[in-house]
This record gives sequence, C-alpha cells and structure tokens, in this order.
Amino acid sequence: MPKALIIGGGVVGPAMALFLQRDGWEVELFESRREPDAFGGLFLNVATNGLAVLETLGVRERLLSDAHHCPYMHMRGARGQLLATVPNGPAGEPERGSAVVRREWLNLVLREAAEAAQIPTRWGARLERIEEGPDAVTAHFADGTSAVGDILIGCDGVGSVTRRWIDPHAPEPRCAGLLSVGGFARVEGLQPTPDAQTMVFGEHGFFGYLVREDGTVYWFANPTHEEIDREALRTWPRDEILAELRDAHRNDPYPVPQILDGVVGAVGAYGVYELTHVPSWHRGRVVALGDAVHATSPSAGQGASLALEDAATLAQCLRTGGFPDAFVRYQQRRQPRAEKVVAYAASINRNKRVPRTRLTRWLRDAMLPVFLRGAMTDTRNNDLYNYVVADEPAPSPDGHPRRR
Ligand SMILES: Cc1cc2nc3c(=O)[nH]c(=O)nc-3n(C[C@H](O)[C@H](O)[C@H](O)COP(=O)(O)OP(=O)(O)OC[C@H]3O[C@@H](n4cnc5c(N)ncnc54)[C@H](O)[C@@H]3O)c2cc1C
Repeated sequence: MPKALIIGGGVVGPAMALFLQRDGWEVELFESRREPDAFGGLFLNVATNGLAVLETLGVRERLLSDAHHCPYMHMRGARGQLLATVPNGPAGEPERGSAVVRREWLNLVLREAAEAAQIPTRWGARLERIEEGPDAVTAHFADGTSAVGDILIGCDGVGSVTRRWIDPHAPEPRCAGLLSVGGFARVEGLQPTPDAQTMVFGEHGFFGYLVREDGTVYWFANPTHEEIDREALRTWPRDEILAELRDAHRNDPYPVPQILDGVVGAVGAYGVYELTHVPSWHRGRVVALGDAVHATSPSAGQGASLALEDAATLAQCLRTGGFPDAFVRYQQRRQPRAEKVVAYAASINRNKRVPRTRLTRWLRDAMLPVFLRGAMTDTRNNDLYNYVVADEPAPSPDGHPRRR
C-alpha cells in the first residue's frame, strides 16, 4: 500500500488524508502545533463549493450543526446608511448561501472525522526539511524525528516549507496592507442577524459582524496596516489591540463601538496575505495544496473552500493515475481557478483600505451603491460557488495509484 505523508493539520490536511485513506493509501498526518487551539483564529465563511466537498467527506451536516447560515451581506457606510445588500453565495439562491463557522469548529469537525477513520496524527511535528530519494521521500521534523513515504503532500499553509522546497525561488506571500483582527463579543440588547452579516465601511477602517441566535457576536476589523511579523502579531497585547480599534471606530455607527466594548475572550490578529502566482505546485514526489500555493485574503470568503476543492481534485488525479502525472494534472486543473479567486479577493481589498481624505471617502460611499446596484440578481460570480470537482474520465486499469 503506498504511503502519503501529509504535512499540516489545518483545513486541507485532514480532508486530503480522508480522501486518500478511502482510496487505499496509508496516510499519516503531521501538525506543527502541539495541541489543538481552542480559539483557533476567528471564524470563516465556508461557501457552497466548500460545503459540497465536505458533503463528499460526510461531515457537511456536522459542520452546519454549529454554523450561521449567511446568504446575504449588508454593506453600510460610515454613517450607518445601507449602501447595498449583496449575496454571499450564488445570486438568487439564498438556500445555497455560505455558512459562517468558528475556524476551530471547522478544524474540529475535520479532526474528528480523521480520528474516526483512525488516521494517525502527530502533533508537535514541525516539518523542517524534505529529502527525496529514488524510491521514497523523507520528512525531517524540528524535534529530530523523521518519516518516510512514497509521496509528501504539503498542506502547511501560507508560510509553507513545502512550497520553498518545491521551488526555492517561489514567490513569498505579499502583505495586502490590511490586518484581520477579531473575535467574539456580547452586547446587551443586540438582536440576532439571521441570514446575514453586516459590513461597515467605517470612518477609519472596515468592520464586519453577525449576531448568532444566542446573542454571541462574531466580529472582525480590517485595519489598514503595513506588514507586522507573525510573532509580533501573536504577542500583541489584547488591551492594546482593542484600544487601537476602539479609537479607530469610535465614530462608527451602532453597534460597532458597542461590540468593541463587549469583546469576550481572546482577540486574534493576522496579516492578510496574497499569493497570486506560484509557478510550481509540485516537484518529484512532493506536491502542495491550499494556502501553501494560493493564499487568498479572506475578502472573498473562499480560502478554505478552495483548499477543500484542491484536496478533492488531487485525490481524483491520484485515483486515475500515478505521480508525477497526477500532480501535473492537479496543477493544471486547479491553478486557473485558484488564481482567479485570489485576484478577485485582492480587488475587494482595494475598497477596504481607508481612503486618505474625506472627499475620497465620500466618493467611495457614493460610488459603491452604484457598483453594487443589481448585485442581488447579478449571476456573474455564480461560477465561484457552483464549481463542482468533476470526475476525471480515465481510471487507471488496476484501480490503484500507479507508482513511478
Ligand atoms: C483572519 C482570517 C480570516 C479568514 N477568513 C476566511 C473566510 O471567511 N473564508 C475562507 O474560506 N477562508 C478564510 N481565511 C483563509 C482560510 O483560513 C485559509 O484559506 C484556509 O485555512 C487554508 O487552509 P490550509 O489547510 O491550506 O491552511 P491552514 O488552515 O492555515 O493550515 C495549515 C496548517 O499547517 C500547519 N503547519 C504550518 N507549517 C507547518 C510545518 N512546517 N510543519 C507541520 N505543520 C505545519 C499549521 O499549524 C496549520 O495547522 C481566513 C484566513 C485568515 C487568516
């Protein structure tokens, strides 16, 4: 039985492991964190295309059991005026709207499925180095241990070691000039927002929120900010972050300042990065998926869904042929779509950055309703959501992944 080493236990790693194990591979999952993170980093939007992959894995309903169904986004200006309501999913099909979930919940649902399938997972295994021989690939970890497999699949996120091994000259992710900061809150009297989240183009920054049925507020802000390194973000004191945000949003409409006063628990701060074009997604026995090769800013709400599509596609390619051909076909099938979505998310970011003057702010608020007029019925974005990981036509003669 061929063995796959899967590096990274975020979104795409466990999904990949589940697909391959079903197809008869021996798989082992390696995650650098020492244990699951209870906060897990805010929340995210899982779009209908991502939910379709989760359905294939049999975990869609479990995920939806703690999700905010969110087919609409209300866009508001700095005075609270409604600029537009836009679909958060295929236009005209609210029943197929996106689900907003805590990131840790998505991770947990996938992890539970991997555990139920008895997929061996090693926590605290940080990939440091890859070594490829004629018959096998070896992953070397920071703790001095190593593992040997037939292929290595890098699901190690935006700072991917795998991407750099595949191509030492691969471009590095580019900071989008925004941070994503957020968490959870409670505000006395604030009503639930079923079916929607609200986005506010505030005076000094972009702010988003939704209110669950039990009154929990999910919130995030996108302060315009130059790049800050990851460690500095991780250790940025919560009170300082909140003080900066409260100052930036003090004149914004209800309930933005109130949410910032009602924050409960941890506050996460992340850089917003984009990886527009990575020329090589594979080399020899090694291939990379998800943010490792096409990190997209959260603005399109598609990063996790794209990563899940990658896993389904690579599994199919390996089902119908051996590597490295399967890796070539995987990249050919995925790259155009991934790059289109990354570019789309980047275009949204331009509107999130704070306009420098009162006049440009006024112009933005005047123009956005014009641009977004008709968005509720505009189906041009529907291919983002309606994407189906189509079957590959030619199964291999023996039904098994071919070895090189
Ligand atoms: C603040 C924020 C908000 C977001 N909002 C959305 C949204 O609304 N919708 C959406 O679809 N996407 C969103 N995204 C993007 C989404 O989270 C990613 O696209 C998605 O998680 C990609 O999955 P992944 O498995 O490729 O990477 P990740 O989920 O980042 O997983 C990578 C894993 O690899 C591990 N790892 C890293 N290096 C190593 C190593 N050397 N060895 C072993 N393990 C390693 C990491 O610890 C991590 O667990 C958001 C991202 C951020 C930062």
